Amino acid sequence: MSNHVSRITHLVNGKPWTGVAERRSPVYNPATGEVTGQLDLASAATVDEIVKTAHEAWEEWVDTSLSRRAQVLFAFRELLNARKEEIAALVTAEHGKVLSDALGEVTRGLEVAEFACGIAQLLKGGFSENVSTRVDVYSIRQPLGVVAVISPFNFPAMVPMWFVPIAIACGNAVILKPSEKDPSAANAMAALWKEAGLPDGIMNVVHGDKEAVERLLEHPDIKAVSFVGSTPIARHVYETATSHGKRVQALGGAKNHMVVLPDADLDLAADAAVNAGFGSAGERCMAISALVVVEPVADELVRKITERMATLRTGDGTRGCDMGPLVTDVHRDKVVGYVEAGQAEGATLVVDGRMGEFDGGEGGFWLAPTFFDHVSPEMSIYTDEIFGPVLSVLRVQSYDEALDLVNSNPYGNGTAIFTNDGGAARRYQNKVEVGMVGINVPIPVPVSYYSFGGWKASLFGDTHAHGMEGVRFFTRGKVVTSRWLDPSHGGLNLGFPQND
Ligand code: NAD
Repeated sequence: MSNHVSRITHLVNGKPWTGVAERRSPVYNPATGEVTGQLDLASAATVDEIVKTAHEAWEEWVDTSLSRRAQVLFAFRELLNARKEEIAALVTAEHGKVLSDALGEVTRGLEVAEFACGIAQLLKGGFSENVSTRVDVYSIRQPLGVVAVISPFNFPAMVPMWFVPIAIACGNAVILKPSEKDPSAANAMAALWKEAGLPDGIMNVVHGDKEAVERLLEHPDIKAVSFVGSTPIARHVYETATSHGKRVQALGGAKNHMVVLPDADLDLAADAAVNAGFGSAGERCMAISALVVVEPVADELVRKITERMATLRTGDGTRGCDMGPLVTDVHRDKVVGYVEAGQAEGATLVVDGRMGEFDGGEGGFWLAPTFFDHVSPEMSIYTDEIFGPVLSVLRVQSYDEALDLVNSNPYGNGTAIFTNDGGAARRYQNKVEVGMVGINVPIPVPVSYYSFGGWKASLFGDTHAHGMEGVRFFTRGKVVTSRWLDPSHGGLNLGFPQND
């Protein structure tokens, strides 16, 4: 059967870009291995053209009333809710994750749009009357200008949505640079913004790779960069964009630990480990990849996890399977390389995903769930972020040993503890050096009105995504001290102003 290959291009000023790209890259359906799209990759000149359009549009948007902005947000929320299945289908077709999981990510993104609908309340400033005699002070928060959002392949709908609705609601114009591996969800959501009544030029999508990103990082009219991706690129983005005077939040990679104490409900812990280890084929920045089990319960937990893994079906995300393929063949081969290294380094391979069966195309990028026991902290399957369906058990003798292991890790994105001891859980939440903590909850992604972000090598910058931190990131503060004319306050005084 011949396969339709579509051209995917930038969206600028509310319309598909009409230029001719110098470079393109293929987009695959990971469940079949077929090329389904050819993506235009922007040159630096194309980025300049799109930034210019966005900047011109922003000059009007910045003065648009809060009430008008909120109307657009509400309309966008309704449209996305009505079309969420369509967006989820695009995610499954290019990322590979199963449809129910794709719908989950769109829904979590939708929640950020719902949060941003309250922008009028969120942007309220402070006012103090009579700070000095007949002098008032008030604070306001103003938009930044044109901001760039650069997103990874693993959440092509949700991660852009962490930033875009808040940036727009705060009065900025956005240039979204999605992952070149699964670009179509970004274009579909940008079309919904137009349909919601957002003026052309406020929401733009530029597709590309390193060349487009580098230009965004140095462009003088880009005022802020929200980046999500791997740690080396996050660090580079942070260093480069801040050196060009921009505000930056750069969220990086992860190695998330789930600590299981001996008093935990082991059935609950086994369910959670399987869900958080293999959901989305482990391609989640909040996936659990290291299970730290405090003895003497490791044998029992390993048995329970192994039993559950035998029931999982890996295959095409449109066929009701539990887990889909990996995003590309290159990535699948990299993950397989880690499985080989784990064996060579002496870990016990309990379930070998290379031997799995797959309900999908022969050319799909398959690897079934893989499970290692007796992993030690120096092995590469522990030290590296694998970003695949590979779960490792590290056995420890005490709570303190578990905490030390987690805190010695360079990453600090998410973690979970499973226990029925409230005191131990509370001690863990207090001492663990990780930004997002779950207590008997394996993937503790904060709701939209709290903020998402890790510590250490998992985030460069000070501000986390969405919630009030998002509102602060996309605005800057101004404080006005005002006095209306009163003859009694005249006279010369060269001293530093004091309040009286
Ligand atoms: P990636 O770092 O390869 O790519 C992220 C973005 O950077 C993409 O838009 C890509 O086009 C661009 N990019 C890639 N190489 C570049 C380069 N050399 N110079 C400039 N730009 C470049 O990440 P990915 O493989 O798409 O996504 C997976 C990674 O993202 C994992 O490490 C995962 O943990 C991380 N992630 C983190 C979070 C978080 O919240 N901390 C969330 C999702 C994903």
